[in-house]
Amino acid sequence: MAVVGVDFGTLASKIGVARHRGIDIITNEVSNRATPSLVAFGPKQRAIGESAKTQETSNFKNTIGSLKRLIGRTSNDPDVQDIEKKFINASLVDVQGTVGVEVNYVGERQQFSATQLVAMYFGRLRDTASAELKTTVSDIVIAVPGWFTDIQRRAIMDAASIANLNVLRIINDTTAAALGYGITKSDLPEADNPKHVAFVDVGHSSLSVAIVAFSKGQLVVKSTAYDRNLGGRDIDYALVRHFAEEFKEKYKIDVLSNPKATFRLAAATEKLKKVLSANAEAPINVESIMNDVDASSKLSRESLEGLIADELSRIAAPIKRAIADSELSLDDIEAVELIGGSSRIPAVRARIAECFPGKTLSTTLNQDEAVARGATFSCAMLSPVFRVRDFSVADISAYPIKVKWDPVPADPEEDTELVVFGHGNSIPSTKILSFYRKEPFEIEAVYSEPQGLPGGINPWIAKFTAKEVPLVGQEAPGDPVQVKLKTRLNASGIMGFEAAYVETREEREEPPVPMDGVEGGEAAAPPPPKKKKVVKHDVKFIAGYSAMDKSMVEALKEKENSMWENDKLVKDTEDRKNALEEYIYDTRSKLDDRYAPFVQPAEKDALLALLSEQEDWLYTEEGEDATKSVYVSRLDACKALGDPIHNRWRESEDRQRSIASLRET
Ligand code: ATP
Ligand code: MG
Repeated sequence: MAVVGVDFGTLASKIGVARHRGIDIITNEVSNRATPSLVAFGPKQRAIGESAKTQETSNFKNTIGSLKRLIGRTSNDPDVQDIEKKFINASLVDVQGTVGVEVNYVGERQQFSATQLVAMYFGRLRDTASAELKTTVSDIVIAVPGWFTDIQRRAIMDAASIANLNVLRIINDTTAAALGYGITKSDLPEADNPKHVAFVDVGHSSLSVAIVAFSKGQLVVKSTAYDRNLGGRDIDYALVRHFAEEFKEKYKIDVLSNPKATFRLAAATEKLKKVLSANAEAPINVESIMNDVDASSKLSRESLEGLIADELSRIAAPIKRAIADSELSLDDIEAVELIGGSSRIPAVRARIAECFPGKTLSTTLNQDEAVARGATFSCAMLSPVFRVRDFSVADISAYPIKVKWDPVPADPEEDTELVVFGHGNSIPSTKILSFYRKEPFEIEAVYSEPQGLPGGINPWIAKFTAKEVPLVGQEAPGDPVQVKLKTRLNASGIMGFEAAYVETREEREEPPVPMDGVEGGEAAAPPPPKKKKVVKHDVKFIAGYSAMDKSMVEALKEKENSMWENDKLVKDTEDRKNALEEYIYDTRSKLDDRYAPFVQPAEKDALLALLSEQEDWLYTEEGEDATKSVYVSRLDACKALGDPIHNRWRESEDRQRSIASLRET
């Protein structure tokens, strides 16, 4: 069994695996430690991760990025529309109430939801980990931004299920980084005097801040704050606008009117931006950007800072909010740890530093890999495979959640809503709610401050329907009974209704506080005062969430498997075709070289003729695009003539070697 942690990034993702000697960030099929978060569709197969990146320029309309920003969203979400305008070249469509894409795939227009796209991408990460560990990968911990809502988290869970993955936990990015930071420290103070560290993650699309208290064996997240739409991509976009303007004057071309040119300019500005993190000035060149114009220019770091002044000015707000929410004084914060690629930009660092006067920023964590490392620690802690030092992680949720219900006729004055998990509620957390009812009833859970949610995300979370209330232990017939409803905000930040029951005691006694309300925290209801036995009578209920239903997940899983099989077949076919081609050239040259002493002229002619015949066929339309078995049988035919020659040479080699070793002894 494998232990895997993933930092699902907007631009690229990193994968960590646990081994006996520790946690490693692994490399993918082209030896990169980060895998582009891209999925692409072609006439024969899909391309995912690195291969999607390779063909992006030539197939940019069927290549989709920003996957993390699309999942759990709808196509009318203003955030999605903004992304579509600036960062997506594929056509976005509505797929059963969620956002998706329409692409050209295997010769047809096909639609896929963002959840499916993420599933495809997770499948590639799974295969990368599996190739590295040489075993199947199922258990996984995935890191997402702390600002992800219930819908987004459930969609991540669905995507993982479609990819045959078993998510042990969804962990917040900065919490993962904090876990990696704390678990390796042996000098943490006692709990009454914790060490406070601020983590600031500036990534490709968002900025996250967390202030965390560390003490022996535990971390407690004190506060978090975010700018959900501030990161490297916004800086790239500012540069794109700048150069588009400049090139309009200079070359009389309108880059922004041409998606392909815009795409190529964006790629060049990202490079330029990175160079400017280390240099005072840098050139930019985009060959034949459009209309055969080779565009070139340069930019100084100072001008860059001017161009992104708006973005820079937004950095302080979330940091200040997190500091205020933590109720700590600046002196209490001992260290500021930077993570995320965009924290390499000197001006970004300067803005962060200004929020912590007198402190130097630290980068003791690997800023690109800290999140993946922490997610992997989390997976190792939850998986039975490794013994990991106990380290408790107390996180908090980003948005308050309330439950609401219709008034009951018997008690029209009763409140009809209640905040169950307030702002910064700890996760995991369980609460028991009480309702006096005698008829079937419904409760809905929603985010109580919808204006604080990302973009146009629906505040709806869940609906609980009690089908039948067992009328037991009533004082008088016709009285309502106290239904206890157990709700939980789990470690992944997902809310659920876990149980509903009516309690009776062996001997009748006064029922507790006769009003609807929250009763108790993580622990269950308080025990009855006397030694009486409590009997629980289940309330039959159903709970509905935004997650896909099981049959849908199964259907999509099947679809994903068949696309995966198809990709594999295309790849295997390509491999067999290459093998045939290689055999032809290789054998031909060996016939004139090492095989020469072992081959009769007639034999050689026959083989050469066969090789030429195969070679000619490879260049025909049929040979260009044949099935795997055809390539295999043609290679086998060549080998039937070639192998005897090869074997004679091999035997002679072996003989020479044994003679040589006899002489040595
Ligand atoms: P997010 O966390 O927002 O989902 P992510 O995890 O994919 O995104 P990171 O890998 O943390 O993002 O950072 C990627 C961003 O950092 C990109 O915008 C990239 O251009 C930028 N970046 C990387 N190196 C540098 C550098 N040396 N100078 C400036 N920017 C850089
Ligand atoms: Mg990130």
